[in-house]
Amino acid sequence: QVKSRGKKDYGLYEPKMSEKIYKNFMMVSDFNRALRENEFVLHYQPRYHTGTSKIQCVEALIRWDHPESGTISPLEFIPLAEETGFIIPLGKWVLREACRQNKAWQDQGLPPVRVAVNCSSRQLQQDDFIPMIKEVIAQTRLSPEWLEIEITESGLMRSEHTNIVKLRELRSLGIHISIDDFGTGYSSLNYLMQFDVHALKIDRRFVQQIPNAVIANTIISLCRSLGLNVIAEGVETVEQYEYLRRYGCDEVQGFLFGKPLPAKTFEMLLRKNEILVRNTSINAVQS
Ligand code: C2E
Ligand code: MG
Ligand code: MG
Ligand code: MG
Repeated sequence: QVKSRGKKDYGLYEPKMSEKIYKNFMMVSDFNRALRENEFVLHYQPRYHTGTSKIQCVEALIRWDHPESGTISPLEFIPLAEETGFIIPLGKWVLREACRQNKAWQDQGLPPVRVAVNCSSRQLQQDDFIPMIKEVIAQTRLSPEWLEIEITESGLMRSEHTNIVKLRELRSLGIHISIDDFGTGYSSLNYLMQFDVHALKIDRRFVQQIPNAVIANTIISLCRSLGLNVIAEGVETVEQYEYLRRYGCDEVQGFLFGKPLPAKTFEMLLRKNEILVRNTSINAVQS
């Protein structure tokens, strides 16, 4: 054993690398327990309509409250959940929890908003994707018009032609569909447009280039000619917001208006339901 470990092999045992592999291994072996023990939580980030200045939609974003490691970001565990197939039960949990929460807000008499749920291509590819969604809608009794599914551009590129049919079915149920991280996937427009979605979300890297906004402008005018809604994600400055509003972006989302918040905190924001862009108000929202 020791004998075969030449100098060359050391690269494999670099501490950082093995730490990461170990961490990933621990996360994967914890997945099922975490779901059983309710360690996953959804946070909610508002999407404001630039015309009415009201919350139009809220995006549900998952976090993992790990008993030892603390809060784990979806960027760390979603890729592992996709690789291992755990995204199937986890994605169903996210959908059910988001629909349940939105229905509860509506039942409390809060201003109605759509809830946007991120779906990975692995979920879309399941044979029972549509029946699964129908089941959750029936269980939670949320009217489908208050649900939106976000699928990334790269996720759509990975998916088969049959998924065009599935998305049409979603649409005919009254569910909204948007393409997330738009502009990052290098997919052909012709292919994308077959999906017949409601909206494109400009990826935040293009929003953050504003006022150097060649790509953001291109996406906005593309949406206008195709009759699609356009949403900007990752809006962080007043300058970006004013620019996007002036150029006809329909909805904005970003730290400027509010970070993803726990359900209870978001509820207070929804109760007031007004856009807050003065510096003082922004601080009040985020504290
Ligand atoms: P996404 O769907 O594109 O979500 C937007 C991400 O950008 C969120 O990160 C959000 O917190 C962050 N963000 C929002 N506004 C700003 C801003 O102004 N500036 C900056 N720098 N960032 C901003 P988060 O919550 O860490 O989620 C990361 C990604 O993980 C999501 O990207 C999504 O792809 C994935 N994800 C999150 N929840 C789920 C889920 O339930 N299911 C699946 N399949 N994926 C999820
Ligand atoms: Mg998203
Ligand atoms: Mg995005
Ligand atoms: Mg993103």
